[in-house]
Amino acid sequence: MEQFAKPGDFCPNEACPDYGKLQDGQTQRNIRKYGKTRASVQRYQCQTCHRTFTGTTGTIFFRKRTPEHEILETLALLAEGSRISSLSRAKGFKEDTILAWLREAAQHAEALEEVLMKDFKIKRGQLDALWAYVRNKGEKKLP
Ligand SMILES: [Zn+2]
Repeated sequence: MEQFAKPGDFCPNEACPDYGKLQDGQTQRNIRKYGKTRASVQRYQCQTCHRTFTGTTGTIFFRKRTPEHEILETLALLAEGSRISSLSRAKGFKEDTILAWLREAAQHAEALEEVLMKDFKIKRGQLDALWAYVRNKGEKKLP
């Protein structure tokens, strides 16, 4: 099992010397709370690189072997209606892996929606359909 960090547990900036360092067991913690977003999501700041991030940013990607962009792109293609089986063939990920990303993504929906809508031009309705698909445990087919 891969380990999943709690929100605000580590710096998600790959260029930071403290990237991925968990806060537990550190005498000098590098992450501190830094206000909230408009949607009342807790924001954090890394004291080492001064990057701010929300609690859920990066959490889904923590200790994943696949680069963040690849996972986001896969999620975007799913939202656009690609089937898991065809994505699995095209990209070489196991169907189980894609499903696991999808389930995890749904738990961090709020943080991921911003990125998917802004960077991947995914529409609100497509995201709603995607999360509904996950909630139905994959019983229903994506539109
Ligand atoms: Zn940092």
